[in-house]
Amino acid sequence: MNLEDSGIVREVSSCRICAGTDLSTYLDLGMMPLANNLAGTASDAREMRRFPMQVQVCGDCWLSQLTVVIDPREMFSNYAYRSSISKTYIDHCRTMAKSVRDSLGLKNGDLVVDIAGNDGALLAVFKDELGVRVVNVDPAENLAEIAESQGITTITSFWGDEAAKEIVAKYGRPSLITATNVFAHVDDVRSFVSAAKDCLQEDGALMLEFPYGVDFIEHREFDTIYFEHLSYVLLEPVRQLAENLGMAVFDVQKQDIHGGTIRVFIGVDGAHDVSPSVDEFIENERRGGYHDSAVYAAWNREIDGLIDDLKSQISGLRKSGAKIAAFAASAKGNTLLNACGFNYECVDYIVDDTPEKIGRYSPGTGIPVVDRTVLAETPPDYLLILAWNFAKDIIAGTADFSAAGGKYIIPIPAFKVVESRGAD
Ligand SMILES: [Zn+2]
Repeated sequence: MNLEDSGIVREVSSCRICAGTDLSTYLDLGMMPLANNLAGTASDAREMRRFPMQVQVCGDCWLSQLTVVIDPREMFSNYAYRSSISKTYIDHCRTMAKSVRDSLGLKNGDLVVDIAGNDGALLAVFKDELGVRVVNVDPAENLAEIAESQGITTITSFWGDEAAKEIVAKYGRPSLITATNVFAHVDDVRSFVSAAKDCLQEDGALMLEFPYGVDFIEHREFDTIYFEHLSYVLLEPVRQLAENLGMAVFDVQKQDIHGGTIRVFIGVDGAHDVSPSVDEFIENERRGGYHDSAVYAAWNREIDGLIDDLKSQISGLRKSGAKIAAFAASAKGNTLLNACGFNYECVDYIVDDTPEKIGRYSPGTGIPVVDRTVLAETPPDYLLILAWNFAKDIIAGTADFSAAGGKYIIPIPAFKVVESRGAD
């Protein structure tokens, strides 16, 4: 295969963290389109290029990772997702800023850098509430413009040595570098963490927040698999990565957002006291069987069963004449729709609040993305909540729909119909 023409940068034959070659594939979702590339027409959406979507696990450090890396330029240059759209996310940023200030002792005037800071939502909170100086590094030009317009200094670039040097030269060394929901999207994680080490103050901290591999398996979050999301991460591989670079994980905390994430603090080895939580997380992973291949084989069977069940439940509803729409056109939604084969004949439309997505078509399925007025004017019988991690917000925000008798379907971890009064 000519990798360059195929859009595939490389096939992953050695682990991106430990370089081990004991990789075994445990889930195959078939040929799938890029989840964030919404198309201008329904037929373009349906005919979109597809790539093999398979997950493999490393038998040495237990990092789960996709078998291919797609050219990031195909995926991120006009990344449409805006973090400030969600209230849950902003609340999460506020709590994070305060907690990090207290644990690291951040002071007025300290520098905080956010890697892939999107439209600057997290840094705006740091700047306004903590009085620190902030720099955002993000490759998406449309998001960088939004961030700049809100007074957040932004370097339009991927994170790496060059961005790190530019920051040190222009703004000095940061006390804290944050990377929320980006580590799992990075191919060369070694350079990523090492550039942070070179940029930070001696006693500075790199804070990574990523969806936790234990929740991924435990809550059957197969729909969080998409091509941007290269790794499905436990603490053990991160611990090994830090150790290989002369660093150490010195704290780890569980967060509930996005279906379960962990916040991991890494610093130069010896520069920080190590919290007992680090050993506790590693021990829990080991005891839960996550450092063993049997868990992954069992999960494969479970996910096949879940997909079969979703297909039969939805097709049963359609046969009974029910109309179904979905909420929202997120990456995970597109994985679920494509993995289950739910196309425009099955789901009438997808409601979304992101202006850049409205009027476009969901990749692979050809389902139109519409705004909330369509939900009010032609309501379905069921609203399939694809962004199940924001189910509470979505249900609260569509009270007219449920008051008129509309029901919700939550697909993960198992098919469930919710009537708004019974929702929690
Ligand atoms: Zn490995």
